[in-house]
Amino acid sequence: MTVETHHLIEDLARTGAAKRDALAALLGCDEAAAEALFAAADGVRAQAVGDEVHLRALIEFSNHCRRDCLYCGLRRHHEELPRYRMEPDEIVACAIDAADLGYGTVVLQSGEDAWYAAPMLADAVRGIKAARDIAVTLSIGERPEEDYRLLRDAGADRFLLRIETSSPTLHQQLHPDSDWQERLGCVGALWRLGFQVGSGVQIGLPGQSLRMLADDLLFLRSLKLDMIGVGPFISHPATPLAGTRSGTVGLTLRFLACLRLLCPQALIPATTALAALDPDGWQRGLEAGADVLMPNVTPMQYRRRYEIYPGKVWSDLEPVEFRRLVEDIVARSGRRVAQGPGHSRLRQAASVGPRE
Ligand code: SAH
Repeated sequence: MTVETHHLIEDLARTGAAKRDALAALLGCDEAAAEALFAAADGVRAQAVGDEVHLRALIEFSNHCRRDCLYCGLRRHHEELPRYRMEPDEIVACAIDAADLGYGTVVLQSGEDAWYAAPMLADAVRGIKAARDIAVTLSIGERPEEDYRLLRDAGADRFLLRIETSSPTLHQQLHPDSDWQERLGCVGALWRLGFQVGSGVQIGLPGQSLRMLADDLLFLRSLKLDMIGVGPFISHPATPLAGTRSGTVGLTLRFLACLRLLCPQALIPATTALAALDPDGWQRGLEAGADVLMPNVTPMQYRRRYEIYPGKVWSDLEPVEFRRLVEDIVARSGRRVAQGPGHSRLRQAASVGPRE
């Protein structure tokens, strides 16, 4: 590690700010520098948010999707994929089971599936909130603002909508049928409606340079998000990006660490895609700045069909076993599992309102 890199890490850890070139250098740094970067992020994490790891139970309730995102295995044109939908009652039952396993949050995720009219999803949210005192996060893609409002009024607490990349040009290349500005507009609408908002990007997309990733870091920071979820791009053989190079664990961990240094208070998960590339990915993520894990509680009969990317690990673990596994990972990292919903620290600190 050069003296210069050492200073970059120190400055970033001390000030919480860095220029684009410095961030690009850190994203491309050597192994020794990366260890120092992870240690710095781990230190800031411990100081800013403590040792608790927040668990979110993930329910993948439909793999139907109207979109054709080039990287995603759920894309409309992946015609061989057997599709499924969970009935609203089934979603509620699954959420109740998750609450009874000790989870304080459920994340309802799907492709963009218009079969679920907003009032139907709102009923499911109300059903969950009436049955158990847990937080509900939605990750269902772009919808009209009226839909978001209905869901917020039904009691949904949070919403995850990754911007995928801060480059409108790269976004255009990867999403033939969606628009970067519109997606960003959805993030703004969610914020105004009072959701705790999560966004993020993929790491290692084809055509994505370190400078673009440095821009992603600064862009994500500027959004003042409650949660920031990032993961490596993983090439799916049944998509137009088959055979392209996937992102790497090393680059993803460097990005995670920079994120923690730039956004000390944010909720930052070690994501499923990280574990797909490395079975120790969750632990390594926790040691590089992350403080959230999202164990899967989707009913076993659907699990394998939610194939956003190949190589998902632990698909055969029943929810109870998954819970045990994740508790082990947290303990091995010398941390503890948080109780309760684990709401955004930013929303608790600041008055809720539209940001600039
Ligand atoms: N339809 C919802 C949920 C999408 S799935 C939405 O639009 O928000 C959640 C995330 O999986 C996506 O935001 C994307 O970042 C990620 N993803 C999709 N395909 C991927 C791939 N091949 N490799 C890595 N991540 C992928």
